[in-house]
Amino acid sequence: FTKDHKSVPVADKGWKEGEPVPYSALVSTFEKVDSTTKRLEILQYLTQFLVVVAKRDTATEAKNSQLLKVIYLCINRLCPDYMGIELGIGESLLIKAIAESTGRATTKIKEDLKSEGDLGNVAMMSRNTQPTMFKPKPLTVPGVFKDLTEIANATGNASQTKKVGIIKKLLAACQGNEAKFIVRSLEGKLRIGLAEKTLVVALAHAVVLRNLGDKKLPHDKLAAKLEEGAEIVKGVYSELPNYDLIVPALLKNGVENLREVCKLTPGVPLKPMLAKPTKAISEVLDRFEGKEFTCEYKYDGERAQVHRLENGEIAVFSRNSENMSAKYPDLVQQVPRCVKEGTKSFVIDAEAVAFDLETKKLLPFQDLSRRKRKDVRTEDITVRVHLFAFDLLYLNGESLLKLELKERRKLLREHFHFVEGEFDFAKSSDATSVEEIEGFLEESVKDGCEGLMVKMLATDASTYEPSRRSMNWLKLKKDYLSGVGDSLDLVVVGAYHGKGKRTAVYGAFLLACYDPDSENYQTICKIGTGFSEEILTQFYEALRPLELAGGARGDIEVGAAKPDVWFEPKIVWEVLTADLSLSPVYTAAHGLADPRGISLRFPRFIKVRDDKNPEEATSAEQVCEFYQRQVTANKKGGGGGGGD
Ligand code: ATP
Repeated sequence: FTKDHKSVPVADKGWKEGEPVPYSALVSTFEKVDSTTKRLEILQYLTQFLVVVAKRDTATEAKNSQLLKVIYLCINRLCPDYMGIELGIGESLLIKAIAESTGRATTKIKEDLKSEGDLGNVAMMSRNTQPTMFKPKPLTVPGVFKDLTEIANATGNASQTKKVGIIKKLLAACQGNEAKFIVRSLEGKLRIGLAEKTLVVALAHAVVLRNLGDKKLPHDKLAAKLEEGAEIVKGVYSELPNYDLIVPALLKNGVENLREVCKLTPGVPLKPMLAKPTKAISEVLDRFEGKEFTCEYKYDGERAQVHRLENGEIAVFSRNSENMSAKYPDLVQQVPRCVKEGTKSFVIDAEAVAFDLETKKLLPFQDLSRRKRKDVRTEDITVRVHLFAFDLLYLNGESLLKLELKERRKLLREHFHFVEGEFDFAKSSDATSVEEIEGFLEESVKDGCEGLMVKMLATDASTYEPSRRSMNWLKLKKDYLSGVGDSLDLVVVGAYHGKGKRTAVYGAFLLACYDPDSENYQTICKIGTGFSEEILTQFYEALRPLELAGGARGDIEVGAAKPDVWFEPKIVWEVLTADLSLSPVYTAAHGLADPRGISLRFPRFIKVRDDKNPEEATSAEQVCEFYQRQVTANKKGGGGGGGD
């Protein structure tokens, strides 16, 4: 690392100590990152830049830290996820701002977008061919960060004009290729192939190197120190995903003490632990036989991470860390009623399920999704919600993540109690035989659940693993036993105009999975059957504003699919399939199992997943896993392969 480190061009050319980080220095790092797909090179470019920034960052508070702003601009965010301030300006507003700022007609911008496929490039080209009277003052990282924050925060009637005004000012100050990245940041995606996990490692490495100063270490010692630093920062970030807290702590104390100062804290949602799908009870037993495990009902609702802060405030967070306290004011009122005396601060992991108070029965997710998402008044609520708790992650000032599930579950049951129609523990059975598990699965479905979650109960393998899709949690869904083992969550990237009676709406849709390594969407199937007129109208209304004037965006790997319109990737649908096959048309997971892509056969729409971001869609790797499992299963069963 140190040897190569020297051979990389220095990122801080022309940038004096004490001055704000020039935006151009960040942009040249983006360009370098974009020039390679090798993770180690990306890590190296980024670390190199972050070391320079970290060395010059003497801030003790988050609001003054340049390193913090650089980190946010690298992941295209402005604050922790759960605070809900987001970029993602619509294409038409950006076209308007680019046109006005560069004195070009919007029609010309749209034409260029069609041929170029990337509004960032169009902005850069428009800017660079524009004669300028005087050299603008260079953009700086703190300046850009402030402007982007103002744009994201603008609300109300005059907000569009205000946004366009700031964007124009930013574009007018752009030099070289800066406009490309300003526009991509505004769109909500940088598209340079920088995964957040690489950024976290680069941050750790940068701080370790900065704190070593001129001290020379033998190569193996340095490598070990860097690795240890990365493990610490990764671990801390998964418990406390908040750079506002982590970056100043790193600058102040280095990585060594980070675990002591930055811990799971009520009020900061941690990334939930996820489960691996299974197709058969035998598969569950292959994994768990001989070990202590438990089966729990898999409730069909919405994940709710419920926090009680030290000050007694209750906050509810969704699967993707969105603060849902305003969506569930009833839940916020209900929770204190299930807490036993002596239970103060806590974080519980639970499922919020729609519930019929009269019949005392669980209602399906569809009923829950009928609830309004915003400005909910308790008196207007018609769909009641029941909480089913399955884990306890924090209790009275202590993190419980490293305890065995058996221990966490015991504490959960000791510190909370059943409240009719409001709170219960996830129903569980410590069944061990195929017959018993089968019986419990049947029972769960009869009670209105999706199936079972099977979890490791004891040993180190049963700690809570934030953000991991773990083999220690398996999901077994009744519906899917005959399919590929699980449904897929796919992004709607295109549509085909309806025919006959359906010309006023889209008649079929093009779906894609997400590849986090390349940050691209990869097409996987066309879906167009089984939709009612009413639902097609709803989809049309939701998708029409996302139509892209310039055709497929640069981060969609198109393949041979040719929809009539392309969309900004935003909406996620849950889809079921009979099986998967290799395909010359679609690009999903290409290069993983086979050079060809993988596609879904007979896809069936299940529901809209508005609790998932497009980046949380089924990944290319998961698609490949599904395909490979199917091939193996077919071989075992003596059936044919999945190709067509
Ligand atoms: P994935 O992240 O695996 O794609 P998903 O959000 O699509 O998950 P599922 O695949 O259906 O959801 O399964 C996991 C989800 O099941 C959890 O996120 C949680 O919301 C829900 N769930 C219901 N009951 C339980 C339980 N007993 N234990 C854990 N999760 C449960």
